[in-house]
Amino acid sequence: MPGVDIVIPDMSYLVKNKEKIRGVFITHGHEDHIGAVGYLLKEVNIPVYGAKLTLGLLESKLNEMSLLTSAKLVVVDSTSKISIGCFKLEFIPVNHSIPDTYAVVITSPVGIILHTADFKIDFNPVSEKVTDLNRFSEVGNRNVLLMMADSTNATKEGYSMSEKAVGDSLDNLFRKASSRIIVASFASNIHRIQQILNLSEKYKKKVCIFGYSMRNNIKKSMELGYIQVKKGVIIEDFEIKNYKSKDIVFIVTGSQGEVNSALSKIAFRKHPKISIEKNDLVIISASVIPGNEKYLYRVINELFKNGANVIYQTLHEVHASGHAYKQELRLLITLVRPKYYMPVHGEFMHMESNAMLAMDMGINEKNIFLLENGDVMNVNSNRITVEERINVGVSFIDGSGVGELGDDVLKERVILAQDGIVNVSIVIDKEARTLKAEPVIITKGFMYEKEYDDIIKKIRIMLNEDIDKYTKSSISISDLQNVIKKRLRTYLYQETKRNPVVLPVIMEV
Ligand SMILES: [Zn+2]
Ligand SMILES: [Zn+2]
Repeated sequence: MPGVDIVIPDMSYLVKNKEKIRGVFITHGHEDHIGAVGYLLKEVNIPVYGAKLTLGLLESKLNEMSLLTSAKLVVVDSTSKISIGCFKLEFIPVNHSIPDTYAVVITSPVGIILHTADFKIDFNPVSEKVTDLNRFSEVGNRNVLLMMADSTNATKEGYSMSEKAVGDSLDNLFRKASSRIIVASFASNIHRIQQILNLSEKYKKKVCIFGYSMRNNIKKSMELGYIQVKKGVIIEDFEIKNYKSKDIVFIVTGSQGEVNSALSKIAFRKHPKISIEKNDLVIISASVIPGNEKYLYRVINELFKNGANVIYQTLHEVHASGHAYKQELRLLITLVRPKYYMPVHGEFMHMESNAMLAMDMGINEKNIFLLENGDVMNVNSNRITVEERINVGVSFIDGSGVGELGDDVLKERVILAQDGIVNVSIVIDKEARTLKAEPVIITKGFMYEKEYDDIIKKIRIMLNEDIDKYTKSSISISDLQNVIKKRLRTYLYQETKRNPVVLPVIMEV
């Protein structure tokens, strides 16, 4: 997607139906849940409900978009009961890879709908309580009509690893380290960051933070009380020189190998403040999101080449997923006992696996709904149907401030990027309808040198033929333009099997 900085859901359906929307409820502060909220509020300014940290992280985004003063943000917690339209909403605390995550219980006129949010059940969490199983069972006793459950890890048997276990693995590494430590993690993984800060304190190390989102999130979390750290543990980059290598820890962004992240810049010696020293210990404390492998491995290779020792998930238990495995899903289904079940969050294969699991747990196959984006679900007290389908897709945002891009602009950019452009400039004598000068042919990003001369020669011959025909007939300039365009495109495709943008420009003098 050349030149596209952000991809968000197409919100036109919401905008069209804005008078029906009472509010937005956000389960937690991860990017895939809060990233597009600002773009929605721009179109429909409805109240946004979320926990303290969730709204704290959202505030920074809204501030950047100059929407903070107009936004109506409402903080909720485990005791909140929100009445909105004909719905009543409550929130159940769950474990996830960010604090302040809540499942949502919606009491509607036709029954209770439960959305688990992204969740796991961590019996040994870091600075929070275990997913509130009592509340789930209490809601289950009130008869849940429909349960919508996180599917991300529904293909994995057993229980997800506890966040504390990650702390133990990290402790081992910190204890043995005789060099600088560089830890890359998700900037939103507050529990992980807290554990790294605790270990740094324990082993008398100083912490320096790199990466915009990492610095921003840690600052916000400390302000709101989600990260606790003794004074003097976190230092600024100019203080690094006052300490021995083995007493320094860096917390950085870039656990996915993102090109502009701190870790990537450090690996490729492009970071203004730090570069890799021999024997640095780099810990990638995150799992790689499918699709990002190539980028991350490129960074890991480069780190090794520079003499660092790199630890990543497949080698040590330095990351725990924030999403429930099969046993955790089974436990929740047992407590909630819903009539209808709908897998959400994950690829279709994960949702399929979640549906099979629910069937094994005794939920009637007819009562399990595997929906795709755009499917409309009609919920009744005794019947759920899926008949209608609305148009959904994505919108492309160009970060330079241009705003939303159309599909065709993007298609053009892709063609330009992949197949290049061929520009032909022709000057024609208006009276005589003949060529005034030799055509100028310019190509960009299209041909190899080797084939170049032959192809240009052939293009010249074709142009002369076309213009000759024009001289001898009464077709218009724009017809000539089309003839040239069509012939060149066909020829260039035959010759090179590529489809460059062909741009003939004809001037009459
Ligand atoms: Zn999440
Ligand atoms: Zn998510």
